[in-house]
Amino acid sequence: MIIELKKITSEETIEYLAKKHCAFHIFDSDKNFLITSASIKEMDNELSKHAENQWVFATDMQLSSRDFRNITREIKLKEGLSIGGKHNNTLLIGGPCSVESEDQIRSAAELLKELNLSVLRGGCYKPRTSPYSFQGMGIEGLQLLSKMREEFGHLIISEVRDATHVAEIIEHTDIVQIGAKAMYDQGILRACSKTQKPVMIKRGFGTTLQEFTQAAEFILSGGNSNVILCERGIRTFETKTRFTLDLCGVAWLQEHTNLPIILDPSHAMGYAYGVPALTKACMAMNVEGLIIETHPTPSLAKSDASQQLDYDSFRDLHNDLQPLAECLGRKIR
Ligand code: PEP
Ligand code: MN
Repeated sequence: MIIELKKITSEETIEYLAKKHCAFHIFDSDKNFLITSASIKEMDNELSKHAENQWVFATDMQLSSRDFRNITREIKLKEGLSIGGKHNNTLLIGGPCSVESEDQIRSAAELLKELNLSVLRGGCYKPRTSPYSFQGMGIEGLQLLSKMREEFGHLIISEVRDATHVAEIIEHTDIVQIGAKAMYDQGILRACSKTQKPVMIKRGFGTTLQEFTQAAEFILSGGNSNVILCERGIRTFETKTRFTLDLCGVAWLQEHTNLPIILDPSHAMGYAYGVPALTKACMAMNVEGLIIETHPTPSLAKSDASQQLDYDSFRDLHNDLQPLAECLGRKIR
């Protein structure tokens, strides 16, 4: 249950009520809210005295629900660039799977600059399936990303793999990416709830939509309202493609949640040949962002080599997306 408290409720009363009802307290859009478990359907007399408004839910999908807020959350990324709300912006996020060297990440930053795109991706802590694979450059990679921000003005997105370096990621990025394997990590979710930086949660490949939105609730209920969901493919019986991009799930999320959505066709497909057409299908879903892996020499990439687009293919894709965006009344940023 979500309870909006009357404007005059004092800080002491809010604190007392939150403690008594084991509720989260958030302050959002100039209003105080208490959030309890959805299993609570009624307020006691004391609580109802202080309530201005209330919302009752069937499940713990509460703050993220369209029943609570009917418009897609607006997330301000920087002055002049927001997604969600009334902004018809679709981010085309580009960059390599992993930051590998200064030359490599600078070439990606230059590519984005040429195409007038705003957000540069690059993993520094890679959640690899094998301990013998390249694990990422760590803090050195994050410093290179920060350097690119300074030189080119790009916003930076990079993933957190575990709670040991979550503070470092929050410090060096403009959007925190929580990886598909990390999205259940409570240490990460709680740390991300205490910053105001936008957080993009990637759906685990065995994660139901209910679990996915509940991961978002950890961050929202802790006080960070800037949460974005990313569908990147789930595991099905099919083995010819790396994963199966769940666009039906995206339609469900758009209908039932107020969270902006970014789609990742690169990880879903696993092979570069399928990525351009899939990206167009994703654009047609009217989403707030697309995240595409691109590398100067994909065959030499230290991670996800088979799915990264070379720069000419990325340029062609950017070009092909323009008429689609126009048709949808969206701007590629
Ligand atoms: C990535 O973005 O490079 C990545 C590892 O993604 P995911 O967490 O979706 O596997
Ligand atoms: Mn990758």
